[in-house]
Amino acid sequence: KSAAGKGAIAGAAGGDTIAAVSSGRGGAVAVIRLSGPAAGDVVLALAGRVPEPRRAVLARLRHPDSGEPLDQGLVLWFPAPRSATGEDMAELQIHGGRAVVAAVLGAVLAVPGTRPAQAGEFTRRAFLNGRMDLTEAEGLADLIGAETQAQRRLAFSHAFGHLGQRVEDWRHRLVRAMALVEAGIDFADEDDVPAEARALARPEVEALQRELAQALGDRRGAMVREGALIAIAGLPNAGKSSLINALAARDVAIVSDEPGTTRDLLEVSLDLDGHKVMLVDTAGLREAEGKVEAEGIRRARARIAEADLVLWVHDVAAGPAPDEAPEMEAPAELWLVGNKLDRGAGGESVAGRWAGRSFAVSARSGEGLDVLTRALGGFVTDRTAGGEHPALIRERHRASAAEASAHLGAALAGWEELDDALLAEELRLAARALGRMTGAIGVDDLLDVVFREFCIGK
Ligand code: GDP
Repeated sequence: KSAAGKGAIAGAAGGDTIAAVSSGRGGAVAVIRLSGPAAGDVVLALAGRVPEPRRAVLARLRHPDSGEPLDQGLVLWFPAPRSATGEDMAELQIHGGRAVVAAVLGAVLAVPGTRPAQAGEFTRRAFLNGRMDLTEAEGLADLIGAETQAQRRLAFSHAFGHLGQRVEDWRHRLVRAMALVEAGIDFADEDDVPAEARALARPEVEALQRELAQALGDRRGAMVREGALIAIAGLPNAGKSSLINALAARDVAIVSDEPGTTRDLLEVSLDLDGHKVMLVDTAGLREAEGKVEAEGIRRARARIAEADLVLWVHDVAAGPAPDEAPEMEAPAELWLVGNKLDRGAGGESVAGRWAGRSFAVSARSGEGLDVLTRALGGFVTDRTAGGEHPALIRERHRASAAEASAHLGAALAGWEELDDALLAEELRLAARALGRMTGAIGVDDLLDVVFREFCIGK
């Protein structure tokens, strides 16, 4: 079957051929990718021949109508099904100039059956053609968007099947347990079969429930992906915003809520030793007295409550640190940062709740910031490293796992009383929730959300 002949049936088969520039702007080389039944037609029309599969061939590319040479570049041909999308695909590696890219893309789109790709459409086709599951597609989006090395490592394992395999393993075990329970339905007349089958299924369901609970309790995935949340709290004028600015100036500030401003950042993302960290100034608490700033205070308190770590900043020139930080709603972990070391009084005695973790710095001179930064990096490393890769990364995964766990809980609670059909139904609903995680089951409604994250050309 000739590649060129297939384009004619593109309409009949209902498959558009999509094309897009997949490389970033401004590079010396640009990559145009094509996927769909007319991909071979495009290569033939522009390059004059279709190369051997998966071999790069240097070719002069011409406009299919005028014959005008547009550029010279590498052409690759990946016939279905052994391609990234599972469809016929082609790749044109051309010079990266704006006019060159516009001319070649224009020539590609002049071939009948082709149209510009939408954001994420290549990956969406790969998913629909069974080349990857939904968690792998999400991992790929995270890999492309990774800002820190820890995010890259997590996304890599996620993109290449780690999470998907774990979830599919859970689902297969659940389906086996369900089959045992359903055996009871089929053999309803034979008295001893149901009880025995149920008894066999129960330990597996209990084990699954334990594994789900453990995965749900593991926040490492979210911490790596979203960044560890570090709230900076303290009395007014202790130097909270100065400290954030000093830390942001020293390390790689990834993004800030107020681009271009280096003063009075309320929230800043840093790359600390390869880990993403969100520093949040709980400035709202400053206005606690007098001003009606209820909303700001409420938000600041909420941030403190959800923080992975709270730094209580204390002005060492203003006297000894309090024994206890006021107004704290049981933060996960609390460190004392004695600030304004340049104004004297350094190594004060630190008591009570501060024991263990206290630092002396000067946001102004930079003294002590090294030690604090290293400790913060160590904190995030401790909290995210070790053991297996986390099973759940996104809120979507947690929601599915929680739903599955709720059904398993209902099944286990009613194990002795529920009739076979009801028990099997709880297990089926749990399996379905897991199936939605990988996209194995009923995810049409999720696809737009998942693939919207990608850029055009991916
Ligand atoms: P916040 O209210 O806790 O955010 O405190 P600010 O960061 O606004 O700082 C309050 C005042 O203390 C400002 O005048 C800062 O310039 C000053 N300040 C902050 N850090 C230091 C420091 O390390 N040394 C000295 N001498 N002054 C500081």
